[in-house]
Amino acid sequence: MSYQKVLPSAIDLPLNQKELGEIISKAKDWALMHGVCMRSKTNFSADALQFAPFVLTPSLYPRKEFEKAVNLQTVLNELMHKVAHDTDFLRETLASTIQVDEFTANLFKIYETVLNEGFTQEISLGLIRSDTMLETKKGCIEKCKNLNPNCPKRYYCCVAMVEINTIASGFGHLGPASRAIQSYILNELGHVDKTKNLPENNALSGLCSAMVEAWNIIGNQKAAILFVIEDVTYNICDQRFHEFEIREKYPHVKVIRRTLTEIFNTGVLGSNKELIVDGIVVSVVYFRSGYEPNQYPSKNEWDARLMIERSNAIKCPSIHYHLAGTKKVQQALAKKGVLNRFLSNETDIQKVQEIFTGLYSLDKKEGGDEVVDMVLKNPESFVMKPQREGGGNNIYGVDIPEKLTAMSDDERSAYIVMDRIFPPISKSYMIRPGGQMQPEIVEMVSELGIFGAIIGTKDKILYNRQVGHMLRTKVSNANEGGVAAGLGALDSPYLF
Ligand code: ADP
Ligand code: MG
Ligand code: MG
Repeated sequence: MSYQKVLPSAIDLPLNQKELGEIISKAKDWALMHGVCMRSKTNFSADALQFAPFVLTPSLYPRKEFEKAVNLQTVLNELMHKVAHDTDFLRETLASTIQVDEFTANLFKIYETVLNEGFTQEISLGLIRSDTMLETKKGCIEKCKNLNPNCPKRYYCCVAMVEINTIASGFGHLGPASRAIQSYILNELGHVDKTKNLPENNALSGLCSAMVEAWNIIGNQKAAILFVIEDVTYNICDQRFHEFEIREKYPHVKVIRRTLTEIFNTGVLGSNKELIVDGIVVSVVYFRSGYEPNQYPSKNEWDARLMIERSNAIKCPSIHYHLAGTKKVQQALAKKGVLNRFLSNETDIQKVQEIFTGLYSLDKKEGGDEVVDMVLKNPESFVMKPQREGGGNNIYGVDIPEKLTAMSDDERSAYIVMDRIFPPISKSYMIRPGGQMQPEIVEMVSELGIFGAIIGTKDKILYNRQVGHMLRTKVSNANEGGVAAGLGALDSPYLF
């Protein structure tokens, strides 16, 4: 896009060939030796790790906007907590969606079941990640002028919400690890003074403390925290470092990892609805799986999910939190006046509203026909999203018309439409496994995720914190930038 701004680099680039080769070689080893790694999708081995793709030097990020996103996280935590506990809102908002989207309907069925039976556990744990991009559109410049008086005009941009994740919000380890590797690189390149511009990031300890806090609330010293995992975990370091952090800092807290299939096979509910898996009582369940249809290959996995929801364990997330994180709910929240239902502080409401990106319903009953007209006229300004998580599911720009016109009015209700965000471009080297030792400088865009942790019941919030951040960067012409998927890379914000 012609109006996309180009941000300066954190250090002068390009590096000369010798320096580049040396730093890449050192940085790769640093990554491998510090667990900045994943399992390879193309050359999988449970016995081997590959370093995770990373950006050599951190991307510039306006300090004021970073602080804005960070400071808003506890409000977003509270918002999602309240949405999760508003049965009428979830029911009304998802009514059309669950008519056509089987996956969301199955989640909703579990919700209805535990709602009718009465929740065994009133407390939920939310480990939330709000994902944002910097927006460079004209309207934003107006907003930005007041907020960033010191920012050179050509870099005006402001933070805009992409989505709020309430399940399996990953990168609690890789977020801080990205800061660490880029600090190492800056230092090696002779820019130690610049590392101070990489903000502190304690996501891993913050997320794990919240899990242990939930474990303490239950107070059963013998109980374990259960990580619900995929059949194959590619993002293994991120998950294991959560486990290691808990085991190291709180050695009395056991951690077990099981798939939904294993939980179905070996799990039972005890007489007080305790969740017992493989003979081990579980007091906290942390889902790193269960957000995609293929993670429920049979009815067994759905039964396992229901059993977990029926148990007295604290769930992260509980089923209503999972539903609150759907794209449809986020679209409903962006409608004018809706935030007033959940938040009472006017300033907070205004701040949240301000970072929301335009979101539209495709439901005929909610003006979907006009939205279709608007999108077909100018598809490149939009993203169309189904009720899915984990990346790779959205439809972008010129691909939208074909998809949209092939759908029935009902089928459309399973999707929402969003204004496409055009972030500023940054330039650096992207280092990938198997990549060249003398890579080209590429143009990239970034997505900043802010982590939040919240614990509470319907009526009472017991714990509410912002706990860290992560930055993912992708080449600027890619629609999506999943790090494991191959287009994205680890990065961290360099505040200016
Ligand atoms: P998921 O839950 O699958 O991660 P997202 O809503 O985060 O779904 O979309 C996946 C990716 O698509 C994001 O990480 C971002 O790169 C891109 N994306 C999503 N929404 C927008 C948008 N409005 N503008 C630009 N890019 C977007
Ligand atoms: Mg998501
Ligand atoms: Mg996302």
